[in-house]
Amino acid sequence: MQAVILSIGDELILGQTVDTNSAYLAAKLAESGIPTLYHHTLPDDPKLITDAITQASQRAQCILISGGLGPTKDDLTRHALADAMAVDLQEDPASLDMIEAFFAERKIPMSDANRVQAMLPVGSTMIPNHHGTAPGIHATLNNADIFVMPGVPQEMRAMYDTAILPALRQHATTTKTILTTKINTFGMGESAVGKILGDLMTRNQNPTVGTTVNNAIVSIRIRSESNNPDDARDRLEQTAQQVEQRLAPITFGRDDQTLAATLVTALQNANLTLATAESCTGGLISKLITDVPGSSNVYAGGWITYTNDLKQSQLDVPAELIQQHGVVSAPVVCAMARGALKHTQADLAISISGIAGPTGGTPHKPVGTVWLGLAHNDALNNTPQSKAIQIRLPGGRHAVRTRAALSALQWLRLHLANQPPSHMTWVVSTHSEP
Ligand code: AMP
Ligand code: MG
Repeated sequence: MQAVILSIGDELILGQTVDTNSAYLAAKLAESGIPTLYHHTLPDDPKLITDAITQASQRAQCILISGGLGPTKDDLTRHALADAMAVDLQEDPASLDMIEAFFAERKIPMSDANRVQAMLPVGSTMIPNHHGTAPGIHATLNNADIFVMPGVPQEMRAMYDTAILPALRQHATTTKTILTTKINTFGMGESAVGKILGDLMTRNQNPTVGTTVNNAIVSIRIRSESNNPDDARDRLEQTAQQVEQRLAPITFGRDDQTLAATLVTALQNANLTLATAESCTGGLISKLITDVPGSSNVYAGGWITYTNDLKQSQLDVPAELIQQHGVVSAPVVCAMARGALKHTQADLAISISGIAGPTGGTPHKPVGTVWLGLAHNDALNNTPQSKAIQIRLPGGRHAVRTRAALSALQWLRLHLANQPPSHMTWVVSTHSEP
């Protein structure tokens, strides 16, 4: 059995509403072992909807439709379905009873417009809606079972879970299991990651491996299917481990795991505390770390020293250093990190100073030039050590700041794992203070 998902509404086509129904349904179908062939999003245009239903009924055995069952003139899905089935609409007494009961219970007078919601294509049956006025419709066309649900996500989900999913489970001829996972990386572009994955990404194999990018986090999506749930799980885990081996050490977690959460765990395991001194990221590093529950165990706090004055007065950065090297430089970020270390007694401090743009760049230091500093107490002679890396980031102000903050977190992780920062491909130079 294969499925097609149709989402209907002018607001979806215009981009005013994001189509979350299709994503919900596709994930639910996958859980039940039913692959989705494609999604179509259609406006409230009966001709287009009729054609889409006809086409889907020739290709799939299950068609899930949401939207366009409302009482207003632009809700035309039922008419389009009747046309595709080449039948008329007729009033269904049971549906009318349910709609009348819905209004009676809430002591609201029912408007005449709602009567249309009791009209079903001849030969179809009503699916009860316990959360709204629009009953759903179950029909058949060619070899396909068609289920039409209301567009309101809450009503659609309730109807799918209570009425449609049990029906599909009975119909499903296979009990295929589809499992998915996501391995997250930071430090390389998508094409570089793809190159390393190489043969793992060959299409039409099981498990399938693909990449996606979200806010500079490159994630590797793995999808495994099998008639045997254990086999599906084993294949998924094997491929996941292969991906992690190939991409280590820039991989930092699976599924919804964040880079900051992985760093917090690493600091906890090493029994180390951290302080921050930020300039161009304006507290973003601190925000990402404190997003993680339990970060208070490892995060002392930090500074946003945006002006040169504050860098001097709060972090003891010598004025001559700024004059001599510029505020975006290795000596300045090293001094910032050492200052943060000194004033907090944390074990580690990370600092950042860069040019986020759109103005402020020079030929020598273009927009996207960022220096990161890291200071830590050397256990041997109890003196602070500091080092710095320069990164060059593409993109606008938002992209530069986000990537710079994430680079700081990833560098700290690499430092704790005794790995060089050069695993991040945008590191252009490194610097160590004596
Ligand atoms: P309808 O059943 O077409 O009257 O849709 C009712 C409301 O549900 C619309 O105004 C949208 O806000 C919402 N809606 C419809 N389709 C979707 C969808 N595919 N994803 C998310 N929301 C939707
Ligand atoms: Mg609509």
